Amino acid sequence: MSEIKKPEKIVGVKGMNDILPSEAPLWELFENTVQSVLKSYGFQQIRTPIVEPTAVFARGLGTVTDIVEKEMYSFVDSMNGDHLTLRPESTAGVVRAALEHNLTYDGPKRLWYAGPMFRHERPQRGRYRQFHQVGAEAIGFNGPDIDAELIMLCQRLWDDLGLENIRLELNSIGDADERLRHRADLIAYFEKHKDSLDADAQRRLYSNPLRILDTKNPTMQAMVNEAPKLLDYLGDESRAHFEGVQKILRHSNIPFTINPRLVRGMDYYNRTVFEWVTDQLGSQGTVCGGGRYDPLVEIFGGKPTPACGFAMGVERLLELMKAAGEQARPNQCDVYLVHLGEQAQLQAFVLAERLRDAGLDVVLHCASANAASSLKSQMKKADASGAAFTIILGEDEVARNVASVKAMRSAQHEGGQVSIEFDNVAEYLVDQIVGADDHDHSDHIHYHP
Ligand code: ATP
Ligand code: MG
Repeated sequence: MSEIKKPEKIVGVKGMNDILPSEAPLWELFENTVQSVLKSYGFQQIRTPIVEPTAVFARGLGTVTDIVEKEMYSFVDSMNGDHLTLRPESTAGVVRAALEHNLTYDGPKRLWYAGPMFRHERPQRGRYRQFHQVGAEAIGFNGPDIDAELIMLCQRLWDDLGLENIRLELNSIGDADERLRHRADLIAYFEKHKDSLDADAQRRLYSNPLRILDTKNPTMQAMVNEAPKLLDYLGDESRAHFEGVQKILRHSNIPFTINPRLVRGMDYYNRTVFEWVTDQLGSQGTVCGGGRYDPLVEIFGGKPTPACGFAMGVERLLELMKAAGEQARPNQCDVYLVHLGEQAQLQAFVLAERLRDAGLDVVLHCASANAASSLKSQMKKADASGAAFTIILGEDEVARNVASVKAMRSAQHEGGQVSIEFDNVAEYLVDQIVGADDHDHSDHIHYHP
């Protein structure tokens, strides 16, 4: 008889993370906070597909960008030959959708999105192949006011999340003709210093010389620092726009530094560019990047429509929240319901539904099919659940039409057990839980900061 081979374990894709239940509360805290901030500025959510025609990115991002050159998950749909790509970012898709549905027909729109993005990068801390972004796109606005508003929105989010060590870097990369003049001088300058260019820079010298400016190679820093600065090439309009952004930021007490070497990775940017940077995350220190991308709608075949936006990296921000001591302690439930005996189990189902009607989160103990669990083992599960209260229904309780309620956490009640009339349990618990909490009712369930 041949031996049956145990199947090998299947593991997930490298660089693509599972977000486990123990981490989910922190994600929820982040997501709830960011949603409420975006809402407080009048942004509306848009959800576009994760897969787009490859042309959306090739055309939208520019073919000589890092993303399009080497980071995209592109494939041919074997069913119909379509060229498709898992989205590496969302601006291009959102603009594609806005144009396709003529979203700006009745005026500019403030949009936001959240979700997974895919880039074939070398996985490391803060850099994954599937990662998450939250972003905002303000489409149809041409003034510096919206640029400043987007930045202020970010600042409010950092404040609400309790993040202190994120600083703002700002630059203007001007308009296309200004960049063209700068580019000629930049290439000439780099040609003069060809010996100090690394392989990457050599490769980009004529295709995307601007990107050489944000090289991370330490041996090139001094040379790059002396290169012609785009800021010196801005015309009157670009300059006025940039000054407009700075004026609002200063007046609103948003600190920033101007970084003349900040250029951003995508071709579609013009004028204002910005990054939020921290020193707390090693070399993956950029948590959010954004700027103006006035040319993009036209690149997609629409009529000229100015726009500005940002995208933030959720994984990196969660790292920062953890570093700041944020602990969203997971509470699986408010109440864990323990029961002993057949009659008690039936009553437990009734009680659990009543508690849920009252707005409480309830975990009803479920046993294995052929063995009832002992009181001791159920109490262990109740403790591990993080529930504020355990309810015990045994034969005695059922006979007396009561439930035993045991407070598990609150200092005053810990260990205490009281008998409550079956019909009054829901009211009693709502009083205890909401009353004992400084926080509003919606808050008590998942977080006890
Ligand atoms: P980097 O220079 O770190 O590669 P980027 O310029 O490619 O960043 P953007 O395209 O501007 O990044 O994306 C916005 C944000 O998304 C980044 O600031 C970062 O926080 C996050 N991000 C980008 N790529 C990844 C990734 N592979 N894994 C995790 N987060 C990422
Ligand atoms: Mg990148």
